[in-house]
Amino acid sequence: MTNKEALLFGTAGIPRSSKAQTTQAGIERTLELGLGCMEVEFVKGVNMTPPTARDVARVATKRGIRLSAHAPYFINLNAKEPRKLAASREHIIQTARITALFGGESVVFHPAYYLKDDPSQVYASVKSNLEQIVTKLKTEGIRVWLRPEVMGKDSQFGTLEEILQLCTEVEGVAPTLDFAHWHARTGKANSYNEFVAMLKKIEKKLGRSALDNMHIHVSGIRYGPKGENNHLNFAESDFRDEDLVMALKDCKVKGAVICESPNLEEDAQLLQQAYEKL
Ligand SMILES: [Zn+2]
Repeated sequence: MTNKEALLFGTAGIPRSSKAQTTQAGIERTLELGLGCMEVEFVKGVNMTPPTARDVARVATKRGIRLSAHAPYFINLNAKEPRKLAASREHIIQTARITALFGGESVVFHPAYYLKDDPSQVYASVKSNLEQIVTKLKTEGIRVWLRPEVMGKDSQFGTLEEILQLCTEVEGVAPTLDFAHWHARTGKANSYNEFVAMLKKIEKKLGRSALDNMHIHVSGIRYGPKGENNHLNFAESDFRDEDLVMALKDCKVKGAVICESPNLEEDAQLLQQAYEKL
């Protein structure tokens, strides 16, 4: 069983050093690396069959590795064409179905693009589409956290404020807090005090239970005036990973930290080791 009282560290997708590029082998490798969680990547589409998902659930339970999933990138809950909007909802629903089947707890997704619309209009569109998704999943008896992500580019819906507001208004929605994205987007949010302030803001808005059930993304990051350019390893970036780890520890955050650095497990281990030393 995975430890709900802990903060677990893991990789975005199968660790690079995994013997095979299968989810099951990735879980085995996660355990060997001493890590505690793994995010299953469906960023190019949900490509797992139900029998595979059941086998993944078996391996994850046996090894005590906590799983989450990342929905496809082709999602825009502010799309103009009804067909694209329906497809966007469907991507999230399909990810949730397969995630529930392999025993995952959270579905991460990139909610929308502003497309030059007023942010309040975009918010309304994202919210109404999310409500439709929640209703559909409820009728199917699927219980996973839907986790819109704090995004790194100015063109993307998903400021920290927008994501937290959604969580207060739509049942079953919780944040994916991507610290690298927020740093890239704001050019700030890269020190112990700022990290603690973000976590306190979440606690104030969503309650202590949100910090007991956090889903975090982090990596080094390259960015410009419009925000995120690409992910980097911590060593090549200005991201203050040790400050972050200290803030997570001091705020007693529980849940999962998914490392999205190109080197995946190396930076995930770096974070975990820094955390354990505190
Ligand atoms: Zn993402």
